[in-house]
Amino acid sequence: MKSKLTIDLLTLFPEMISGFISESIIGRGISNGIIDIKVHNIRDWATDKHSITDDRPFGGGAGMVLKPEPLFAAIEELKTDLSIVIYLAPDGEKLSTGIAKELSGSTHLILVSGHYEGIDQRVRDTIIDREISIGDYVLTNGTLPAAVLVDCVCRYVPGILGEENSLAQDSFSKNLLSTPQYTRPAEFRDMAVPEVLLSGNHAEIENWRTNYRKEETLKKRPDLISNSY
Ligand code: SAM
Repeated sequence: MKSKLTIDLLTLFPEMISGFISESIIGRGISNGIIDIKVHNIRDWATDKHSITDDRPFGGGAGMVLKPEPLFAAIEELKTDLSIVIYLAPDGEKLSTGIAKELSGSTHLILVSGHYEGIDQRVRDTIIDREISIGDYVLTNGTLPAAVLVDCVCRYVPGILGEENSLAQDSFSKNLLSTPQYTRPAEFRDMAVPEVLLSGNHAEIENWRTNYRKEETLKKRPDLISNSY
C-alpha cells in the first residue's frame, strides 16, 4: 500500500493557513490519518538574533528578497529521498488537474511560499524540484497559492472525498466542464428542476449530463473540448 501523503509547508505566515487545514475535507483527512500537513515558519531557521529572513536585492530595485540561508536550512532538514520540493511562483508551470493528480500520488511534498520580491535565485536553481503557479496574476505572498495547491492535490488522494465518484463529474475531468446540480424542492419560485433528473432512469440521467457537459464546454471553453476527441 502507498504511504500517506505528507506535506510540509514553509511560510512566513503560518497563521494564514492554520484555519484552512483544520476545517472541512482537509481537516477531516488529517484527523483520519489519510494526509499529514505540517506548517512551518521560515523564521525558525533564521540564524541571527533578530530572525531576519529577507534582505535588499543585489543590483538595486524595489522590495526585499528572501535570503537563501534559512530556506536551504529548512529544506535540507525536512527533505528525504522521496520529497518533491515545490516553490509557488507566478512564473512557474500553471497548476492543472493533471499536475494535481500527479502530485497526489507522491509521498512527501515540501511547499515553499515566497514573499516580497520572491526568493534568492540560488534556492530556485539548486534545491527546488518544481515551480508551480496558480494563475497569471501576482499575490503578495505564496501562502494562499500553497493552500490552493494543497487543496487541489489532496482532493485526489484516495479516501479524502466521501464520494470519490464526484471527481468524475467535476469540471475538467475528461476535459469537460461540470453539470448543473439541483436539490429539493423540485420546484422553487416557478423554477422547475429538469424532469430527467427526477425520472430515476440512471442511463438517461447519465446521458443528459454528458450531453450537457459537452454543450457547455463547447460554449464556454471550446479549447478544452478540442483536446478531448
Ligand atoms: N517578483 C515576483 C514576480 O514578479 O514573479 C512576484 C513575487 S510575489 C509578490 C511574492 C510571492 O508570492 C512569490 O515569491 C510566490 O511565492 C507568491 N506568488 C505570488 N503570486 C503567485 C502565483 N500566481 N502563483 C504562485 N505563487 C505566487
